[in-house]
Amino acid sequence: MMKDENPRSSADEKRLQASEDMFHSVRLDRDKCMGCTNCIKNCPTQAIRVRNGKAVIISERCIDCGECIRTCTHNAKQAVTDSLDSMEKYKFTVALPAPALYSQFKTARTRNHILTALKRIGFDDVFEVAEGAEFVSNATRQYMKENEIKRPVISTACPAIVKLVQVKFPSLIDNLLPLQAPVEAAAGLAKKKFSEQTGLSPDDIGIFFISPCAAKMHTKNAPLRGKKSDIDELISFQDIYMKLRSAIKDIPPYEEEDIATASSFGVRWPNPGGESLAAGTKKFVAVDGINDVVEILETVDTNEDSKFRGLDFIECLACKGGCLGGPLTVKNVYVAQVIMKDMRSEQNCRYKVGELPAKHVDWHDLLWDRKPEHIPVDQLSPNMAEAFRMLSDMEEIGDSLPGIDCGACGAPSCMALAEDIVRGQAKITDCVFKLREKVRGLAVEMFELEGVMPPTMENSSGETDAGDGGETETSYIFDIEDGVRGNNKEESNEDRDEAERGNPADSDKVNSAEAVHSRGTAERSSGTGADWDRYPGSTGAAGKEGESIDDKRYGGLYSGHFADWHNL
Ligand code: SF4
Ligand code: SF4
Repeated sequence: MMKDENPRSSADEKRLQASEDMFHSVRLDRDKCMGCTNCIKNCPTQAIRVRNGKAVIISERCIDCGECIRTCTHNAKQAVTDSLDSMEKYKFTVALPAPALYSQFKTARTRNHILTALKRIGFDDVFEVAEGAEFVSNATRQYMKENEIKRPVISTACPAIVKLVQVKFPSLIDNLLPLQAPVEAAAGLAKKKFSEQTGLSPDDIGIFFISPCAAKMHTKNAPLRGKKSDIDELISFQDIYMKLRSAIKDIPPYEEEDIATASSFGVRWPNPGGESLAAGTKKFVAVDGINDVVEILETVDTNEDSKFRGLDFIECLACKGGCLGGPLTVKNVYVAQVIMKDMRSEQNCRYKVGELPAKHVDWHDLLWDRKPEHIPVDQLSPNMAEAFRMLSDMEEIGDSLPGIDCGACGAPSCMALAEDIVRGQAKITDCVFKLREKVRGLAVEMFELEGVMPPTMENSSGETDAGDGGETETSYIFDIEDGVRGNNKEESNEDRDEAERGNPADSDKVNSAEAVHSRGTAERSSGTGADWDRYPGSTGAAGKEGESIDDKRYGGLYSGHFADWHNL
């Protein structure tokens, strides 16, 4: 296939559409998408292309980090979450608030204030994810002490990070901490607790995770422990915010229930560094923001920086500011940090600040039973030889592109476009610079072709044979040169006379006569003795200005004295 042919077969379109249809927590609202290409640059895994004026998410590359939700100012990228209406499906409902929820309400006095409000809006009971975080903290300490896990250990509480490693850093899969995230631990504990407490079957108890991000939808749909997650529904902060805020307003201090059980250890988890403290090591680094995470993991992956070699733990959070900056939060991340400080203060916690309650947990109970696998998004072909050939083509195409990563082609970088081309999903002229080059080349080619005749119109001596001078347009032209009679000639002379007299109404006629003069190669070289190339103004390549033309006789027609160039 030629590289510049349009290769987007309907199969490609279907594949891209299928990618869209596969489950993901981040979706595109096509009606709102303007095709502006803003989102393609910020995606950490180059999962977005703009095709036919709309963004398309390549399913296997997307890690559900939600970065594009933040980037799109047209609100075309949206998170898929569940609805509060699904409370009706269960006999008993439990709210599982992420600790970051405590940072969303300036008017809330205490965590108990918010937890009581959750019950007021319809939940039968509440279980803090912060408590699950304490279990995971204890399990992490035990696991790291008792197991020879590859260092530095990479945190796995953020599902987007696990997927990032699967997609981009397969050699770091063994560094992932293989334990459930706090929300999954909390969901399991809550299901068990309330099932025992109410005597209901676990299926009748609805566990509603109140979440700052959509990435947890992936945890809910594809858990790494067990076949089915204990999280039944995921409600975003944004969806519950207004309801909860008005309930908070209506609760006086004496009506607050004593529900909060977690210590500041669990409550500080959503802040960068919170999880590292839980790991019980001083040799850690906490990174927030997906692009910074990518940078750090690249350094670890390539073993570039010796300082990273002595590390025990790397805490990675996809969002800037940790879960407080999640894409489905309401409050500005810095305001949230200030509120959060209050929420984990001594008077807001049952345990002393910094004191990790000894939870009786066996880390085996939180261990993944499925290892995340590498998602080979960069593999060009399963056939090695073919893959090498494609790679070499890709490099060659990449070198020929301007390398400015402008994004105008709908791909995030020139190399991404080169990859799309070898995969048959794009064409070289998607690059505006290449398109311009091609148009310029075509213009030169057309100019050259303009002097060439098809063989069917050439005689044996190589000259063109355009007829015998019969009553055709061609003969009309010869009449002009030879001063031969006929209506056409008379008309032409009349026109010129009138134009000479300055009759503007007739200048068109003169111009049309000129147009006849400059008609085409066939007319200029019809082989009856006329030499149109001698005439200035001819579109022929070899016009010899002023030669052999009786300007008086032709009323200056060929020298352009009467033609107004504006009319052409
Ligand atoms: S940022 Fe992306 S999703 Fe949003 S309008 Fe632009 S191309 Fe569409
Ligand atoms: S959610 Fe993240 S990985 Fe997925 S398309 Fe958006 S920016 Fe890319």
